[in-house]
Formats: sequence, C-alpha cells, structure tokens
Amino acid sequence: MAEYEAMGHEPFLSQYGFPEPKRIWIKLNGNQYPAKAIAGAAHKFVDGVPLVASAFKSGEATVVRKLRKLGFEIGTPGRNPDWTRDELILALELYFTNPANPPGKKSAAVAALSHLLNKIHRLSGGVGGTTFRNPDGVYLKMMNIRALDPTFIVQGKVGMKAGGSLDKAVWAEYVGRRIELAADAKAIRDAVANTNEEAVAKLPTVEPYEGEEGGVIMRLHKRHERDPRVIREKLKAARAAGDFECEACTFDFEATYGPLGAQFIEIHHTTPVHMMKPGTKTKLTDLVLLCANCHRMAHRSRIPLTLADLKAIVKIGSSEKLGACSPISRH
Ligand SMILES: [Zn+2]
Ligand SMILES: [Zn+2]
Repeated sequence: MAEYEAMGHEPFLSQYGFPEPKRIWIKLNGNQYPAKAIAGAAHKFVDGVPLVASAFKSGEATVVRKLRKLGFEIGTPGRNPDWTRDELILALELYFTNPANPPGKKSAAVAALSHLLNKIHRLSGGVGGTTFRNPDGVYLKMMNIRALDPTFIVQGKVGMKAGGSLDKAVWAEYVGRRIELAADAKAIRDAVANTNEEAVAKLPTVEPYEGEEGGVIMRLHKRHERDPRVIREKLKAARAAGDFECEACTFDFEATYGPLGAQFIEIHHTTPVHMMKPGTKTKLTDLVLLCANCHRMAHRSRIPLTLADLKAIVKIGSSEKLGACSPISRH
C-alpha cells in the first residue's frame, strides 16, 4: 500500500500488469486501494515474486474472502464528491478560454487543471480517490458547462446533460462578469501556489464555522492562523502588555464577564493567503486579537476580512445604529 501511494495509481497498475479495477477496493483510513493489484504485489513479500493479473484464476470472490480474513475492509469505490464552488470557478475560467472548442481530454490545460484540483483537495484534507478530478472528469465538467451556455443551446450542439444546481448558480453568477471570474480564479490559484503543502500539513486542521462558505482560501487561512508557534508568541505579547481587547471593536471579555473572561481572546491572520508570498512564515505582526463576534464576521466573506475592513464595518455599524435611534424603542 505504501508502494502504491508512492507510485500513484496508474504506474502501480501497469507495473504489476493489472487492469483498472471496477468493483473491489481495499478501504483503509479513508483511502482506497485496488484490491487485486495490492494482493498481487504483496505476494512478493511471501515468496519473492508478485502475482500477475492472469495468475488470479478463481475470480474476485477468492481475493475478497482472503483479504477479509486478513482483516481488510473491502468495498466498491466511493463516488467522487460534488464539485465545489472553487472548483467550478476554475473550470468555468478554463471553459471561457475557448467555448467554441473546449480543450480536449488529453490537452495540457485539462491536465493542469486536474493537477491543481487534486492539490486543492489534498490541501483541504481530502484523500483523493484514484479517479478524483482526473482529466476525463475535468473534460466532462467542461461539457456540463457548455450545456449551460446559450450560444451552444441555440445552435443545438448540446449533447451533454447540464450539471447540478451549483453548476447553474456559478454559471449565472459569472457569465456576465468575466473580470470578477478571472480575479476570483486567480485568488484561488495564488492561494494554492503560495502554500507549501508540507508545511501546511503540519498545522492543525480546523472545522469550519457553521454557515461559513468554506472555500480553499478560507480553509488555508484558518490553518495558518492556528499555527501554535505564533499563537503562543502573540498571547505572550498580549499578556506582557496586559491588553486583551478586540482590536476591531475594543470588546474586553474580562470587563464584561469578570474573571471568567480573563485573558480570553481569539487570533486572526490579517493577510489573506492568496496575497502571501510563497513560503512565508506567519509573523507576529500578521496576527491581530479579535473578539469571537468580530472573528466570525471576518470569516463570513469568501476572502477573510482584514483588520481595516473590520474596523470600517464596526464604525459604520455603530454610527448607523446611533443615526437610526428614535425615542420609540423597537425592543
Ligand atoms: Zn470585536
Ligand atoms: Zn481568522
């Protein structure tokens, strides 16, 4: 299995001479492995020679029985997850490079997008199935998108079923807004390019807040701001200054909650990950102290808000409240 992971799906199958498996996969720790090929390859640890596909005469049932007896979970491959908004934005961008003639299954552009989507998936903590966003899948998505394009619907060229409701929503959102599409796609690509996969893998994972849109930019942002090394330093500095106020709205937990709220504050990273330079480490000056409310608001947009953004909003909010204040209370 380690060899399979290191080699990758297709090279492993061709090395041991196994066809693409349809039904039986070994499932382990959220990953899946082609059962027959793994059993065949593992045979070299028994008598020094791997078993080739043609050596399996007795059908899949025997392999399944044997592997189950050894304690492995066997199952059919899981379905690939639905395309996310980020993924659809990137696919739409590629589609618009040439709607009349979308790049083919074997094109470099489709291969590059497949590669990028797999990296995003891994950065988001996913373990890719072997067919996850492969060139065929990416090409199919181009065709799903084309089925939404009125130019091709009018010409009667549509032979492909349009995608799901999110496909339609993303299409509708960006069809007349190509500059915004390019900017949003660039932000996603930059965020991924600026991220060192190995370094991020060492940072703690975090669950999204309820209602958080949860694209890859926000997920990477949260992992960066949970870097225990800088958090420790930031809290130490706050302690030394005796100041645990929210930097956006000045809320002080201790002032409101007494000893229960002493030294309680959250930490927010103010540089959105797509604007970081590749390989930069989080510095103390990148972090600000925020109360829980301000922090949740900062994470409510697709791109995390900076301190300046938040301060401006809090200010507008409070002056509007004062302006709207009338002698008759609504409460
Ligand atoms: Zn606040
Ligand atoms: Zn944050």
